[in-house]
Amino acid sequence: MVKRLFQELRNDFEKIHTPFYYYDTVLLAETLESIKKEADKIADCHIHYAVKACANPRILKQIQQAGFGADCVSGGEIKACIESGFPANEIVFAGVGKADWEIELALNAGIQYFNVESIPELEVIAEIAERMGKFADVSFRINPNVGAHTHANITTGLAENKFGIAMKDMVGTIRTCSQFKSIRFVGLHFHIGSQILKMDDFKALCLRVNELQDMLEAEGITEVKNINVGGGLGIDYQNPDENAVPDFKAYFQTYAKHLKLRLGQRLHFELGRAVVGQCGSLVTRCLYVKKTDSKQFVIADAGMTELLRPALYDAYHCIQNICSTAPEQTYDVVGPICESSDTFAKGRLLPETKRGDLLVIRSAGAYGETMSSQYNCRELPKSYTTEDFA
Ligand SMILES: *Cc1c(COP(=O)(O)O)cnc(C)c1O
Repeated sequence: MVKRLFQELRNDFEKIHTPFYYYDTVLLAETLESIKKEADKIADCHIHYAVKACANPRILKQIQQAGFGADCVSGGEIKACIESGFPANEIVFAGVGKADWEIELALNAGIQYFNVESIPELEVIAEIAERMGKFADVSFRINPNVGAHTHANITTGLAENKFGIAMKDMVGTIRTCSQFKSIRFVGLHFHIGSQILKMDDFKALCLRVNELQDMLEAEGITEVKNINVGGGLGIDYQNPDENAVPDFKAYFQTYAKHLKLRLGQRLHFELGRAVVGQCGSLVTRCLYVKKTDSKQFVIADAGMTELLRPALYDAYHCIQNICSTAPEQTYDVVGPICESSDTFAKGRLLPETKRGDLLVIRSAGAYGETMSSQYNCRELPKSYTTEDFA
């Protein structure tokens, strides 16, 4: 569907300055519907969109209007969410390094709760809340020491990672809350990593959460209102058209089947990539085709400044030349930035490509535009949605 859309829009694109992000808001709507449909099968289940995946205002607005809450990891994200219409009490705030001004901002806004990642952080939140005459609802991020079968840079739930509080320190940390008049303990938070495609990894998390809840009960801690299992569901970067909407059914059923919630407990999810990943593309133009003795390079006008994932994670993105139907040749697709890691793909087959051809780098909706930078004094990319071409 997306491919057909691009073909219809090609004439329009030719007039537009490249590179730019294109968001298929019809696909986003379909994705949001699928999430709601599957999540609704679980009682008292709440989805908070992980804003760091894509904070484009129009995308945030659409997600907010679909009734999702938000998971923020900075004061800037909290501001962006409030500006986009998210009710403050549907916002949760995570992150290992919350600055004092960010904590104050969150308390003033009246967010739902903080996902706290260390005791020093708890102490600072308590002190600031007390000074402001407010209560801070806190949930503890527990490091469950569950490995995820994904890239090492996006595994977050192992003992060696900087995230969360170790399992063995959890009971002590929860008991510490009673020392602070301004703190209310409201739940437990987990997030084991990103781009996870094996449901067994989520099952392992469920079993660990069950174990933990049994342990807490044995210690007499029975008031745990929220269980927040984070996000992490991956997308199919190889086949963006065949699998445009991730398998939310399998994902939510894994939790429904294996997680043993206590009576009245609320379940929270924080999905990012799976919500927005497939709806975004980076559109770039071929500036030059450069041939050397051993290779040919397509030099695009987009680079790691617009899409960092290949340079940062060695990530694969499907690339389509929407202007050529000539027989395929092998290219390295690179950007103009003065770094060797500014490479989108090596040894990639593309229809014979010429200067001026438009290339569409697919599945770039998550961790694409949000990671763009002005390195080399470049301008931040513009963005368009389906509505702009209607
Ligand atoms: C990044 C992040 C998420 C979202 O991860 P995805 O893999 O994009 O679903 C959820 N929760 C927390 C705490 C995060 O840091």
